[in-house]
Amino acid sequence: MTQQKVTNLAKCTPMTKSFALILLCFSSLLFCTQPNKQFNQEFGVSSAVKWTMKSAEYQIITEHLYRTATRNIAAIEVPKKPWVVAMDVDETLLNNVEYNRRRDLLGLGYSSESWAEWVKEESATPVPGSIEFVTQVFEKGGLIVLITNRERQLDSNTWNNLVSLEFPLNRNNTCIMGRSQADRNSVGTQGMMNDKDLRRSQIANGTANYCWEEYPEVKEIWNKPLSIIFEVGDNIKDFRQTTQENVDTKDFIERISSDVLLLPNAVYGSWE
Ligand SMILES: [Mg+2]
Repeated sequence: MTQQKVTNLAKCTPMTKSFALILLCFSSLLFCTQPNKQFNQEFGVSSAVKWTMKSAEYQIITEHLYRTATRNIAAIEVPKKPWVVAMDVDETLLNNVEYNRRRDLLGLGYSSESWAEWVKEESATPVPGSIEFVTQVFEKGGLIVLITNRERQLDSNTWNNLVSLEFPLNRNNTCIMGRSQADRNSVGTQGMMNDKDLRRSQIANGTANYCWEEYPEVKEIWNKPLSIIFEVGDNIKDFRQTTQENVDTKDFIERISSDVLLLPNAVYGSWE
């Protein structure tokens, strides 16, 4: 209650004062219980989202990591048989911090419905350095498989978003594999430590039948065993048979630059 309101009430008759107090209390109650949009303006954007959106540090760290990996791919000795780089999509190729900013301002977190709407907007931006890395993989003669936990039915939206940003992707050089129920069900079965292991094994075994199954002219490229020589992601589960619980961080550090690239993501992850 403001000082002005207290002063005015003091001048009223007892009856008027009681009525005014009731009115004031009632209006305060209404104000406090209405979940209207003006309340949303009171929600702030988290530090993690601000760091990703605004900081020089995020730009520098991410681009430095990608540049180093790009040089490593250029210099790496590749196998004679067909090889691929397995890449995650979100916060690895595509930056979705605008989605998180919007959710923060609403005072809300992730939901599968709002996320699907965001994916269908196809307006995510590129992670710094990622287009150059992808270009180098192709120049070196490699293929890319995108193993993403976006739902499989959203693969065309993901693909459109990437192509619109001028990632040099086509059906001859890249396969996109969104998550299916089979991936969820596989966790805990033999050799499947996380929900991307099934897709990695399908690529390695030549059983990734889902890859461009509607396009017979390119199926031959994807339906044969492919050697995964490098993995890129922002989540420890983007790497084969790895979880927060089982990762040996010292061993993992030794692999950086030789066969893995781990990017920063302060906003969300399997660490939550
Ligand atoms: Mg990711």
